[in-house]
Amino acid sequence: MTTEALYKLYAEHPVICTDTRKITAGCLFFALKGENFDGNFFAQKALDDGAAFAIIDQAGLQKDERYIVVPDVLEALQDLARFHRRQFDFPVIGITGTNGKTTTKELFKSVLSQKFKTYATTGNLNNHIGVPLTLLSLPKDTELAIIEMGANHKKEIEFLCTIARPTHGLITNVGKAHLEGFGGFEGVKTAKGELYSFLKENDGVTFINQDNPHLVEMYGSGNGRVVRYGTLSGDGVKGEIVENDPFLTIDWFSGERTHRVKTNLTGTYNLENIVAAITVGLFFELSEDQINAGINSYIPGNNRSQIIKTESNTLICDYYNANPSSMAVAIDNLAAISANKKTLILGDMFELGEDAAAEHKAVLDKALSIDVDERIFVGKEFFHAGSQINARFYMTTEDAFNGLKDNPITNSVVLIKGSRSMKMETLVELL
Ligand code: ATP
Ligand code: MG
Repeated sequence: MTTEALYKLYAEHPVICTDTRKITAGCLFFALKGENFDGNFFAQKALDDGAAFAIIDQAGLQKDERYIVVPDVLEALQDLARFHRRQFDFPVIGITGTNGKTTTKELFKSVLSQKFKTYATTGNLNNHIGVPLTLLSLPKDTELAIIEMGANHKKEIEFLCTIARPTHGLITNVGKAHLEGFGGFEGVKTAKGELYSFLKENDGVTFINQDNPHLVEMYGSGNGRVVRYGTLSGDGVKGEIVENDPFLTIDWFSGERTHRVKTNLTGTYNLENIVAAITVGLFFELSEDQINAGINSYIPGNNRSQIIKTESNTLICDYYNANPSSMAVAIDNLAAISANKKTLILGDMFELGEDAAAEHKAVLDKALSIDVDERIFVGKEFFHAGSQINARFYMTTEDAFNGLKDNPITNSVVLIKGSRSMKMETLVELL
C-alpha cells in the first residue's frame, strides 16, 4: 500500500496504536518490532480488541482485509508521519540537546499555551518511533507544536528532522551522555548540530544560548535566522537567579525592563531553560504577563528537578536519569541552595563505555569539593572510584535502602540522583 493510500485510511482512523494493551476502538494498529517482541504476532489481538486495521510486515499472517501488509511497518509509520507533516503549516519547534530537553519542552508548552493551542511530545516520546507518533497524534486545532528529539548516535537528529521538519529549533546544550554511541564528545556536537544544519538549510529560526560557547561554535557563521538569549551578557533576553530556596525566583531583562517570576523548579541549571522559554514567548509575541504565568504555572512532576517535602526532609528528586553533565550541575545546584543541612545521594551512571571510571571519579571529586553534611554513593562504579574516602558507599540500591533504615537522614535538603536503572526512587520512602 502506498503512503498516500495509507494516509486516506489514517484520515478516517486518526488514532494510532502500537501496544495491544492500549487499543482504542477504530484505531490503526502498527505492528512494530521491539527487542523482545514482534507486533505481527499481536495483530489479530489488536483487531479482536477493536482496531480498524492492522499494519503488518509479515506476509502469510493476514486472514482478512483488515490486515495491511507493507514492506516495513516502522518505515510505513515514519513515511505516514512525514506525509502528514507536509499537510500543515503551523510552527513546529524542534528541541534537542544532551540535558534539559523535556524540561524545556514543558516550559515552552506552558508558556506558549497562554496564547496558542499548543501541543507537544508526551512524556519522553522523542525517538524514531516517538517523533512520528507525536506528529500523528496532533489534534486538528493545533496552532503550534513542540517536538522533543533525542539521539544516541549520529544522523539520528538529521533523520528526525526529515520527519518533523522543524521551523524553529533549539539545542539546550551539549554534554557527556551516550558517549559510546556518539564516539566521544566531538561526536555529540556533530550529532546535535544536525538540527542547526536543518534549520539553516530550510530558512528556520534558531534560538541560541550565546553564553554556551559550544553552541555558538556549532552554529558557526553564515546566514540563518538567529534569536540569541543568555544568562550572562550580550543581546537578547537575559535572566538571573535572585532566590534558590530550593525553588528558583528569576529576574529577567528585555530591553529596559526587568520582570520577576517565581517558579516551581529547582536547579541553577534550569535558569537557561527558563530564559529559553521566555525568549520563545517574546518571539511569538506573548505579553510579559502571559510569559510569567506560563513559567510560574509549570510544576515538574516527573522526577526531574522535582521537590518533595516529607515529614523528615526536603527532597530534590532528580533520579529520572543521570550522566556526567547533569550530575555536575545537580551538585552545583545543591551547593547553591540555602539550607542548614544538606545530603547527597548519588547512584552510578551508565552508558559511559571506557570513560566510566574517570567520569565517576570526577563526580566523586566534585561531590567532595562542595560543602554538604553527608555524602552517600550507590553502585559499583562509585565504589571502585573511591571507597577509601570518608563517605557512605553501598554496592547496590538495596544495600543503600538497608543502610538508610539503620542510619536515617533527617532535617536535610537531600539531592537524589542516578541512572534510571539504579532505581534511586526506591530510597524515597525512607527519607
Ligand atoms: P532525556 O535524554 O532522558 O530525554 P532530557 O534532555 O529530556 O533527558 P530532562 O528530562 O529535561 O532532560 O532533564 C533531565 C535532567 O537533566 C534534569 O533533571 C537535570 O538534572 C538535568 N538538566 C536539566 N536542564 C539542564 C541544563 N540546562 N543543563 C544541564 N543539565 C540540565
Ligand atoms: Mg527527555
